[in-house]
Amino acid sequence: MVAPFVSKRAKIYENTPDEKWNDWRWQLSNRLNSAEEIEKIFPLTESERRALNSSGLFRVDVTPYYISLIDPDDAEDPVRKQIIPRAEELQAFTAMMEDSLAEDRHSPVPGLVHRYPDRVLMLVTTQCASYCRYCTRSRIVGDPGQTFNRAEFEAQIEYIKNTPQIRDVLLSGGDPLVLAPKILEELLTRLREIQHIEIIRIGSRVPVFMPQRITQELCDMLSKFHPLWMNIHVNHPNEISLELTQATDRLTRAGIQLGNQSVLLAGVNDCVHIQRDLVHKLVRARVRPYYLYQCDLVEGAGHFRTPVAKGIEIIEGLRGHTSGYAVPQYIVDGPGGGGKIPLQPNYQISMSDHKILLRNYEGYITTYEEPTEYKIHDAKTCKACQSKRPEVGQTGLTGLLDGDQLFIKPEGFDDLHHRGGSEHRLKDENKWKPLGIGSD
Ligand SMILES: *Cc1c(COP(=O)(O)O)cnc(C)c1O
Repeated sequence: MVAPFVSKRAKIYENTPDEKWNDWRWQLSNRLNSAEEIEKIFPLTESERRALNSSGLFRVDVTPYYISLIDPDDAEDPVRKQIIPRAEELQAFTAMMEDSLAEDRHSPVPGLVHRYPDRVLMLVTTQCASYCRYCTRSRIVGDPGQTFNRAEFEAQIEYIKNTPQIRDVLLSGGDPLVLAPKILEELLTRLREIQHIEIIRIGSRVPVFMPQRITQELCDMLSKFHPLWMNIHVNHPNEISLELTQATDRLTRAGIQLGNQSVLLAGVNDCVHIQRDLVHKLVRARVRPYYLYQCDLVEGAGHFRTPVAKGIEIIEGLRGHTSGYAVPQYIVDGPGGGGKIPLQPNYQISMSDHKILLRNYEGYITTYEEPTEYKIHDAKTCKACQSKRPEVGQTGLTGLLDGDQLFIKPEGFDDLHHRGGSEHRLKDENKWKPLGIGSD
């Protein structure tokens, strides 16, 4: 028998009328944010109390719904660790960065991150329903003074309008689903008016923090803007409640494709068995695991970091062992603006000129015989190759495979290897030249 999803309410909310509990406005305005309020739900540890009472802490706010998912008797509860600060959060660590993904450097206008050739990340608000302690954007998130105004929205939309290679717009923040419904609808309307926008995506943790917000009315509004995709953010199976599955049911019935992005967090979900349970519950809720992220090098998140090997071990324990649908892609978001880099266990063992040696998830080693008569794909006669959409500003590795370019070299390479001339110049030797020229 498959265990049913359950609904929970902390003791102090047992007598809260259902109309209030199920109203997202009530959930928002009754959020808990101080040691005194949280202590009415469960006793705080010394470390939590110290963090909550310190100044300069990243914003704390938890909905009554979400705090109810915490086992009040377990100080190590995986939901609790995600949302209640601990003293470790105040500690610096080596390699820590304020804007580890260099988003600000990739912003042509405030709040818009254009990192990849054909898609943009649009930060539409700095507000969330509750605040994750490991937030990658804690440099701006939570601060109502840093949220985006009308003029900035206009500038973001103007940039998208004037940049025809953008075919995919990802709304994030903060959390787009805490925007006033009218503003969200207007934003979506404006984006849909742009001819070259093919898909719109929303990244939101509202279904997890406040599933009450996913009303039929909201789903009806969203369904006017198809094709619309949504990534939610669940890290632990304890977050998959009856309410969350009702919300994902409404969203999927409205035709919205759901994915899940989770972050690998020490002491929360750094375990193959927890991850397996998580992905199984997600697919039951009709949510496709999309990415599992390595924790970013962000201030306050040092105690959540795991070695990268933990992520590889988790994928090793999922791929082949369970439905392909349930296996996320493990991603390290390259510090300094390197973007998303996928990692996985090695399945390729060796190769010869006619065979490739592969191992499966069980360690069974097999050979795949390469074809002896492969007619090489001819880009000169292929219609798709001839009419390909140019990737503005991106030559890089595909440029090596696809074009006339022979190599990419780090900046300073020529100077360093210019023997017989002046002395070697070592400065800048590690910088990659974005456009290696190439045929000497
Ligand atoms: C993650 C991200 C995207 C979307 O990446 P996908 O791999 O397409 O999901 C786009 N822009 C930025 C800046 C991002 O960080």
